[in-house]
Amino acid sequence: MSENNAPEKKAPVKKEHKIVSAATGQQATKEQVQKEVAQALLNQTKQSTVGLRIGAIVLWVLAIGFEVLALLVAIEKFAPKFLDNVNILVPVIVLLVLDLVCLIIGSQLWKKANHINPVSEKNKVKFWLWNNMGLIVAVLAFVPFIVLLATNKDADPKVKKIGAIAAVVALLIGGVASYDFNPVSAEQKEAAVAAITTTVYWTNTRSGKAYHTHDDCQTLNQTDELVAGTVEQAIAANRVKLCYFCAKRDGLENTVATEDGVGEVIINQVEEAVDEAVENLTEETPAETTEEQPAA
Ligand SMILES: [Zn+2]
Repeated sequence: MSENNAPEKKAPVKKEHKIVSAATGQQATKEQVQKEVAQALLNQTKQSTVGLRIGAIVLWVLAIGFEVLALLVAIEKFAPKFLDNVNILVPVIVLLVLDLVCLIIGSQLWKKANHINPVSEKNKVKFWLWNNMGLIVAVLAFVPFIVLLATNKDADPKVKKIGAIAAVVALLIGGVASYDFNPVSAEQKEAAVAAITTTVYWTNTRSGKAYHTHDDCQTLNQTDELVAGTVEQAIAANRVKLCYFCAKRDGLENTVATEDGVGEVIINQVEEAVDEAVENLTEETPAETTEEQPAA
Protein backbone atom coordinates (compact mmCIF):
# COMPACT_ATOMS: atom_id res chain seq x y z
CA MET A 1 0.00 0.00 0.00
CA SER A 2 1.73 3.13 -1.16
CA GLU A 3 -1.06 5.48 -0.30
CA ASN A 4 0.00 8.84 0.91
CA ASN A 5 -1.03 8.91 4.53
CA ALA A 6 0.40 12.29 5.32
CA PRO A 7 -1.80 14.08 7.83
CA GLU A 8 -4.30 16.35 6.17
CA LYS A 9 -3.50 19.96 6.45
CA LYS A 10 -6.38 21.73 8.07
CA ALA A 11 -7.47 24.76 6.10
CA PRO A 12 -7.68 27.84 8.29
CA VAL A 13 -11.45 27.75 8.64
CA LYS A 14 -12.97 30.81 10.24
CA LYS A 15 -14.05 29.72 13.68
CA GLU A 16 -17.77 29.96 14.34
CA HIS A 17 -18.34 31.09 17.91
CA LYS A 18 -21.42 30.71 20.00
CA ILE A 19 -21.95 34.20 21.37
CA VAL A 20 -23.51 34.84 24.75
CA SER A 21 -24.71 38.31 25.68
CA ALA A 22 -23.09 39.65 28.85
CA ALA A 23 -26.21 41.69 29.55
CA THR A 24 -28.74 38.85 29.39
CA GLY A 25 -26.60 35.72 29.74
CA GLN A 26 -28.49 34.33 26.76
CA GLN A 27 -27.20 33.24 23.40
CA ALA A 28 -27.46 36.13 20.96
CA THR A 29 -26.39 37.28 17.53
CA LYS A 30 -23.64 39.85 17.09
CA GLU A 31 -26.26 42.33 15.94
CA GLN A 32 -28.38 41.83 19.06
CA VAL A 33 -25.36 42.37 21.32
CA GLN A 34 -24.37 45.44 19.32
CA LYS A 35 -27.83 46.89 20.01
CA GLU A 36 -27.51 46.15 23.74
CA VAL A 37 -24.06 47.73 23.83
CA ALA A 38 -25.36 50.86 22.11
CA GLN A 39 -28.32 51.02 24.50
CA ALA A 40 -25.97 50.70 27.50
CA LEU A 41 -23.91 53.61 26.18
CA LEU A 42 -27.01 55.71 25.50
CA ASN A 43 -28.22 55.10 29.06
CA GLN A 44 -24.79 55.98 30.41
CA THR A 45 -24.64 59.31 28.58
CA LYS A 46 -28.26 60.20 29.25
CA GLN A 47 -28.28 63.64 30.83
CA SER A 48 -31.15 65.50 32.31
CA THR A 49 -32.31 68.33 30.07
CA VAL A 50 -34.93 69.56 32.53
CA GLY A 51 -32.83 72.63 33.43
CA LEU A 52 -32.42 73.64 29.79
CA ARG A 53 -36.13 73.21 29.11
CA ILE A 54 -37.18 75.20 32.21
CA GLY A 55 -34.72 77.94 31.18
CA ALA A 56 -36.22 78.02 27.68
CA ILE A 57 -39.79 78.24 28.97
CA VAL A 58 -38.96 81.00 31.49
CA LEU A 59 -37.26 83.06 28.75
CA TRP A 60 -40.17 82.50 26.38
CA VAL A 61 -42.67 83.65 29.01
CA LEU A 62 -40.50 86.75 29.55
CA ALA A 63 -40.49 87.34 25.77
CA ILE A 64 -44.31 87.28 25.68
CA GLY A 65 -44.32 89.58 28.74
CA PHE A 66 -42.18 92.14 26.89
CA GLU A 67 -44.52 91.84 23.89
CA VAL A 68 -47.56 92.64 26.05
CA LEU A 69 -45.71 95.59 27.58
CA ALA A 70 -44.65 96.86 24.13
CA LEU A 71 -48.25 96.68 22.94
CA LEU A 72 -49.59 98.52 26.03
CA VAL A 73 -47.02 101.30 25.54
CA ALA A 74 -47.74 101.49 21.79
CA ILE A 75 -51.51 101.90 22.28
CA GLU A 76 -50.87 104.28 25.19
CA LYS A 77 -52.56 102.09 27.76
CA PHE A 78 -49.37 102.13 29.80
CA ALA A 79 -47.50 105.43 30.10
CA PRO A 80 -45.12 105.62 33.05
CA LYS A 81 -44.05 109.12 34.15
CA PHE A 82 -40.37 108.73 33.26
CA LEU A 83 -41.37 108.30 29.57
CA ASP A 84 -43.28 111.59 29.44
CA ASN A 85 -40.69 113.42 27.34
CA VAL A 86 -39.65 110.44 25.25
CA ASN A 87 -40.95 109.48 21.81
CA ILE A 88 -43.28 106.52 22.34
CA LEU A 89 -41.43 104.52 19.67
CA VAL A 90 -38.27 104.36 21.78
CA PRO A 91 -39.70 102.20 24.61
CA VAL A 92 -41.72 100.19 22.05
CA ILE A 93 -38.57 99.30 20.08
CA VAL A 94 -36.57 98.60 23.27
CA LEU A 95 -39.30 96.25 24.52
CA LEU A 96 -39.48 94.49 21.13
CA VAL A 97 -35.69 94.00 21.22
CA LEU A 98 -35.91 92.52 24.74
CA ASP A 99 -38.74 90.29 23.47
CA LEU A 100 -36.48 89.13 20.60
CA VAL A 101 -33.44 88.52 22.84
CA CYS A 102 -35.43 86.38 25.31
CA LEU A 103 -37.02 84.46 22.43
CA ILE A 104 -33.67 83.68 20.76
CA ILE A 105 -31.85 82.61 23.95
CA GLY A 106 -34.83 80.49 24.99
CA SER A 107 -34.91 78.80 21.59
CA GLN A 108 -31.18 78.01 21.71
CA LEU A 109 -31.64 76.31 25.10
CA TRP A 110 -34.59 74.36 23.71
CA LYS A 111 -32.65 73.23 20.63
CA LYS A 112 -29.70 72.19 22.77
CA ALA A 113 -32.01 70.09 24.98
CA ASN A 114 -33.44 68.45 21.86
CA HIS A 115 -29.98 67.49 20.63
CA ILE A 116 -28.96 66.01 24.00
CA ASN A 117 -32.26 64.19 24.48
CA PRO A 118 -33.81 63.78 21.05
CA VAL A 119 -37.41 62.68 20.57
CA SER A 120 -38.62 59.91 18.29
CA GLU A 121 -39.44 60.82 14.70
CA LYS A 122 -42.11 58.13 14.41
CA ASN A 123 -44.78 60.80 14.69
CA LYS A 124 -43.60 63.35 12.11
CA VAL A 125 -45.98 66.12 13.20
CA LYS A 126 -45.08 65.81 16.87
CA PHE A 127 -41.39 65.62 15.95
CA TRP A 128 -41.60 68.84 13.92
CA LEU A 129 -43.64 70.72 16.54
CA TRP A 130 -41.35 69.65 19.41
CA ASN A 131 -38.17 70.61 17.56
CA ASN A 132 -39.59 73.93 16.37
CA MET A 133 -41.31 75.03 19.55
CA GLY A 134 -39.10 78.15 19.31
CA LEU A 135 -40.62 78.99 15.94
CA ILE A 136 -44.12 78.69 17.40
CA VAL A 137 -43.13 80.95 20.31
CA ALA A 138 -41.64 83.42 17.78
CA VAL A 139 -45.08 83.69 16.14
CA LEU A 140 -46.72 84.13 19.57
CA ALA A 141 -44.11 86.73 20.56
CA PHE A 142 -44.75 89.10 17.63
CA VAL A 143 -47.89 88.32 15.62
CA PRO A 144 -50.41 89.32 18.35
CA PHE A 145 -48.48 92.61 18.75
CA ILE A 146 -48.69 93.29 15.00
CA VAL A 147 -52.39 92.36 14.71
CA LEU A 148 -53.60 94.13 17.85
CA LEU A 149 -51.63 97.30 17.09
CA ALA A 150 -52.82 97.40 13.47
CA THR A 151 -56.46 96.97 14.47
CA ASN A 152 -56.34 99.54 17.28
CA LYS A 153 -58.29 102.65 16.27
CA ASP A 154 -56.77 105.02 18.81
CA ALA A 155 -53.10 104.32 18.19
CA ASP A 156 -50.88 106.91 16.50
CA PRO A 157 -50.54 105.96 12.76
CA LYS A 158 -46.79 106.57 12.87
CA VAL A 159 -46.41 104.26 15.89
CA LYS A 160 -48.61 101.69 14.12
CA LYS A 161 -46.48 101.76 10.99
CA ILE A 162 -43.00 101.74 12.53
CA GLY A 163 -44.04 99.42 15.35
CA ALA A 164 -45.42 96.91 12.84
CA ILE A 165 -42.27 97.07 10.66
CA ALA A 166 -40.02 96.57 13.72
CA ALA A 167 -42.13 93.61 14.89
CA VAL A 168 -42.09 91.97 11.44
CA VAL A 169 -38.30 92.30 11.24
CA ALA A 170 -37.99 90.86 14.78
CA LEU A 171 -40.36 88.02 13.83
CA LEU A 172 -38.19 87.12 10.82
CA ILE A 173 -34.93 87.24 12.80
CA GLY A 174 -36.44 85.37 15.76
CA GLY A 175 -38.07 82.79 13.51
CA VAL A 176 -34.86 81.96 11.65
CA ALA A 177 -32.88 81.84 14.92
CA SER A 178 -35.45 79.58 16.57
CA TYR A 179 -35.90 77.11 13.73
CA ASP A 180 -33.84 73.92 14.02
CA PHE A 181 -32.25 73.41 10.61
CA ASN A 182 -30.52 70.22 11.80
CA PRO A 183 -33.01 68.36 13.96
CA VAL A 184 -31.87 65.09 15.52
CA SER A 185 -34.20 62.19 16.23
CA ALA A 186 -33.87 59.54 18.91
CA GLU A 187 -33.59 56.98 16.09
CA GLN A 188 -30.72 58.87 14.42
CA LYS A 189 -28.81 59.15 17.67
CA GLU A 190 -29.29 55.47 18.46
CA ALA A 191 -28.13 54.45 15.00
CA ALA A 192 -25.03 56.65 15.27
CA VAL A 193 -24.10 55.28 18.69
CA ALA A 194 -24.70 51.71 17.48
CA ALA A 195 -22.50 52.25 14.44
CA ILE A 196 -19.60 53.79 16.34
CA THR A 197 -19.67 51.75 19.53
CA THR A 198 -17.81 48.48 19.47
CA THR A 199 -18.90 45.25 21.07
CA VAL A 200 -16.08 43.44 22.81
CA TYR A 201 -15.71 39.69 23.24
CA TRP A 202 -14.11 37.54 25.87
CA THR A 203 -13.84 33.87 26.69
CA ASN A 204 -16.29 32.44 29.13
CA THR A 205 -14.54 29.32 30.37
CA ARG A 206 -10.83 30.09 30.37
CA SER A 207 -8.86 32.30 32.67
CA GLY A 208 -8.07 34.90 30.03
CA LYS A 209 -7.41 38.46 31.10
CA ALA A 210 -8.01 40.13 27.74
CA TYR A 211 -11.08 41.25 25.84
CA HIS A 212 -11.22 41.37 22.06
CA THR A 213 -12.70 43.77 19.56
CA HIS A 214 -12.79 41.06 16.88
CA ASP A 215 -14.67 37.81 17.43
CA ASP A 216 -12.51 36.20 14.72
CA CYS A 217 -9.30 37.06 16.57
CA GLN A 218 -6.58 34.43 16.07
CA THR A 219 -6.31 33.85 19.81
CA LEU A 220 -9.98 32.83 19.98
CA ASN A 221 -9.72 29.96 17.50
CA GLN A 222 -9.77 27.35 20.27
CA THR A 223 -12.82 28.82 21.94
CA ASP A 224 -16.36 27.78 21.11
CA GLU A 225 -18.29 30.17 23.28
CA LEU A 226 -17.70 33.89 23.59
CA VAL A 227 -19.33 36.39 25.87
CA ALA A 228 -20.11 39.70 24.20
CA GLY A 229 -20.84 43.05 25.76
CA THR A 230 -19.47 46.47 26.62
CA VAL A 231 -15.91 47.23 27.72
CA GLU A 232 -17.35 48.00 31.17
CA GLN A 233 -18.88 44.52 31.33
CA ALA A 234 -15.60 42.96 30.15
CA ILE A 235 -13.64 44.77 32.86
CA ALA A 236 -16.25 43.78 35.45
CA ALA A 237 -15.70 40.18 34.33
CA ASN A 238 -11.97 40.67 35.05
CA ARG A 239 -10.94 40.97 31.39
CA VAL A 240 -8.99 44.13 32.00
CA LYS A 241 -6.91 44.57 28.84
CA LEU A 242 -7.57 44.87 25.16
CA CYS A 243 -5.99 41.90 23.36
CA TYR A 244 -2.74 42.94 21.70
CA PHE A 245 -3.63 41.38 18.35
CA CYS A 246 -7.03 43.07 18.29
CA ALA A 247 -5.43 46.36 19.31
CA LYS A 248 -2.99 45.99 16.42
CA ARG A 249 -5.84 45.39 14.00
CA ASP A 250 -7.56 48.51 15.28
CA GLY A 251 -4.34 50.57 15.22
CA LEU A 252 -4.52 50.98 19.00
CA GLU A 253 -1.44 48.99 20.02
CA ASN A 254 0.31 52.10 21.29
CA THR A 255 -2.58 53.40 23.31
CA VAL A 256 -4.75 50.90 25.16
CA ALA A 257 -2.85 47.63 24.79
CA THR A 258 0.54 46.96 26.26
CA GLU A 259 3.27 44.62 25.07
CA ASP A 260 2.94 42.43 28.17
CA GLY A 261 -0.49 41.63 26.83
CA VAL A 262 1.27 39.55 24.16
CA GLY A 263 2.94 37.26 26.64
CA GLU A 264 -0.35 36.76 28.37
CA VAL A 265 -2.06 35.95 25.10
CA ILE A 266 0.59 33.36 24.24
CA ILE A 267 0.29 31.74 27.69
CA ASN A 268 -3.47 31.60 27.23
CA GLN A 269 -3.03 30.06 23.80
CA VAL A 270 -0.74 27.38 25.19
CA GLU A 271 -3.12 26.71 28.09
CA GLU A 272 -6.03 26.44 25.70
CA ALA A 273 -4.12 24.13 23.36
CA VAL A 274 -3.20 21.87 26.30
CA ASP A 275 -6.79 21.83 27.53
CA GLU A 276 -7.99 21.03 24.04
CA ALA A 277 -5.49 18.18 23.71
CA VAL A 278 -6.57 16.75 27.06
CA GLU A 279 -10.21 16.98 26.03
CA ASN A 280 -9.51 15.21 22.73
CA LEU A 281 -7.55 12.49 24.53
CA THR A 282 -10.37 11.74 26.95
CA GLU A 283 -12.93 11.78 24.16
CA GLU A 284 -10.99 9.26 22.08
CA THR A 285 -10.63 6.73 24.91
CA PRO A 286 -14.09 6.28 26.30
CA ALA A 287 -13.63 2.55 26.92
CA GLU A 288 -11.37 3.14 29.90
CA THR A 289 -14.00 5.08 31.76
CA THR A 290 -16.95 2.91 30.83
CA GLU A 291 -17.22 -0.19 32.86
CA GLU A 292 -20.50 -1.45 31.52
CA GLN A 293 -19.64 -2.80 28.11
CA PRO A 294 -22.70 -3.65 26.09
CA ALA A 295 -22.82 -7.35 25.25
CA ALA A 296 -21.81 -7.96 21.65
ZN1 LIG B 1 -7.95 39.48 20.13
